[in-house]
Amino acid sequence: MSERVVVIGGDATGMSAASQARRLKNAGELEIVVFERGHYTSYSACGIPYWVGGEVGARDDLIARTPAEHRARDIDLRLRTEVLELDVPGQRVRWRDLESGAESWLSYDKLVLATGATPIRPPLPGIDAPGVHGVQTLDDGQALIDTLESNPGRRAVVVGAGYIGVEMAEALIHRGYQVTMVNRGPEPMSTLDPDMGVVVRKAMEGMGIKVIGDAEVTGIRTAADGRVEAVTTTDAEYPADVVVLGLGVRPNTDLARAAELPLGPAGGLVTDLAMRVRGHENIWAGGDCVEVLDLVSGTLRHIPLGTHANKHGQIIGSGVGGDYATFPGVVGTAVSKVCDLEVARTGLREKDARAVGLQYVTVMIESTSRSGYYPGTAPMTVKLLAERRTGRLLGVQIAGREGAGKRIDIAAVALTVRMTVEQMVALDLGYAPPFSPVWDPVLVAARKAVSAVRRDSRA
Ligand SMILES: Cc1cc2nc3c(=O)[nH]c(=O)nc-3n(C[C@H](O)[C@H](O)[C@H](O)COP(=O)(O)OP(=O)(O)OC[C@H]3O[C@@H](n4cnc5c(N)ncnc54)[C@H](O)[C@@H]3O)c2cc1C
Repeated sequence: MSERVVVIGGDATGMSAASQARRLKNAGELEIVVFERGHYTSYSACGIPYWVGGEVGARDDLIARTPAEHRARDIDLRLRTEVLELDVPGQRVRWRDLESGAESWLSYDKLVLATGATPIRPPLPGIDAPGVHGVQTLDDGQALIDTLESNPGRRAVVVGAGYIGVEMAEALIHRGYQVTMVNRGPEPMSTLDPDMGVVVRKAMEGMGIKVIGDAEVTGIRTAADGRVEAVTTTDAEYPADVVVLGLGVRPNTDLARAAELPLGPAGGLVTDLAMRVRGHENIWAGGDCVEVLDLVSGTLRHIPLGTHANKHGQIIGSGVGGDYATFPGVVGTAVSKVCDLEVARTGLREKDARAVGLQYVTVMIESTSRSGYYPGTAPMTVKLLAERRTGRLLGVQIAGREGAGKRIDIAAVALTVRMTVEQMVALDLGYAPPFSPVWDPVLVAARKAVSAVRRDSRA
């Protein structure tokens, strides 16, 4: 007899899961129903900054697979349909068609929670004024583009300086705006240590972006016509024709919480290695709504990234389809850019290491992207953390021009296999003058860390 899987959420995790399950089981064996409250499926939110900035031509370029393509593969996709309630003991979900208002229950044999994350939007005065935009969905991206194209203004304020904030700063620069970035922390990119944040801030300032740190936003001031006019903080005011919010996200687990499914310290669902919700054999969860095991610190963390979401979807689909696959955890690798500055990180920051009681040494080095004599060579800063005494690699952060960012993958692999910095130095990496100096900058940092660990041990 055919089983039914209900998937809630039709983007990266949900549609990857549905597609993989369909590869393993045909429609006679498995009915797949996906509820998606939005207008689109399988789109790249990651591409929104580049679409807004004009580097990607059209919204449809960001859509990997359309609803019609999914339906052609026997996936019963219900767009503009929101799931309102989970009845876990009764194995059913209550849904509402957002166009017609019709509501009903649908039973399931298996359930996949792929509800993503909710952007943080503090209840500040003026936050809903015309001209204030989030950038979570394609609809958000379109609304921002409409504002930029219809509004003759020239001043933009980005609130929040995480990776989405800095990518949006770049997009607005490409659009010809004067950009101010207002941030609660001392330096941009709090996923880096502050001393690396300084490198990012200085580079951004060099691009003409005004970067305001240690600022608490108190509201958005509006003009008589209701449109945004300025962002106010406790001690200043920044004129704005458009405001973009990049204040981070929290796991979208309201349904799961109400259904008393297990949540971790950051409010994300807790799963086993096969992405099954802990204690529930027939419920899977993945992507931005779950917490993942940090392989370096051994703790659960909420790290909302598309790389994880797609892998989770694949693993969930395998489980739903009767196969077995696991997701071992993450080392916390991320890469982004603002104009020609590439910024990357993996592993632990100093404060993460301290939080789990790890003792460490740090080194920070300046090197170049190519051999010093080769045209186009550019400076690169690498910071590395290694555990005291053992020399185990704990984390790496990189900022530099072309070719800097993806070097983080060397460190991600080294972290995954728990290398010491001494073992890293021996890595046989490729070299030719157009690609790197003879000692790659990551290895220069590792070499310096070997000395630092030895010095520290002697002391
Ligand atoms: C601007 C931006 C840039 C990014 N850049 C990068 C990047 O460069 N690299 C990277 O790795 N990651 C990036 N990300 C993060 C990445 O997009 C997410 O991690 C990924 O989309 C998460 O996939 P998901 O399927 O878990 O959640 P989502 O993509 O959020 O999908 C969840 C879906 O569930 C639907 N949904 C929620 N609740 C319900 C309900 N009750 N009923 C029906 N439907 C529901 C939502 O409408 C949504 O479509 C970026 C994100 C943004 C916003």
